[in-house]
Amino acid sequence: MKTLQVNIVTPDGPVLETEAEMIIASTEAGELGVLPGHIAMVAPLGIGALRVKKDNSTKLVAVNGGFIEVRPDVVTVLATSAEKAESIDIARAKIAEKRAKAILEVEKNAQEFERAELELKRAINRIRVSEGGF
Ligand code: ATP
Repeated sequence: MKTLQVNIVTPDGPVLETEAEMIIASTEAGELGVLPGHIAMVAPLGIGALRVKKDNSTKLVAVNGGFIEVRPDVVTVLATSAEKAESIDIARAKIAEKRAKAILEVEKNAQEFERAELELKRAINRIRVSEGGF
């Protein structure tokens, strides 16, 4: 089966470099499935999972915004932050979730409210990815 190279990089360094038969990314415009030979494109990513499929198994990576660049045989994800499912500290994500919810209950400042909403989204995404809920 044909494969494509998948590279996920963040400001902290590379998170994943692997071959895949297919990937599914969560872009701001919705889910994007990429097979080898896909036309070249760039799209902004939302907070979601990147699903990397190979040999009938799916690897999950939490991706917290950034860009995906697709070329026919290479997918590069430039992520604001990203964690493989097995690297996620679930206790930390649950604390972040609680903290964000507490802020959202009282915050009046629109900018701070939005910041807490994004923190909550990242935390829920990490919890979901680490539990394999995609
Ligand atoms: P927190 O509030 O827990 O710091 P955050 O969403 O503000 O979370 P980010 O700014 O997105 O954190 O990321 C900072 C760094 O910490 C990144 O390297 C990210 O991969 C890592 N990180 C954040 N949360 C977790 C987690 N639950 N498990 C593993 N790594 C995490």
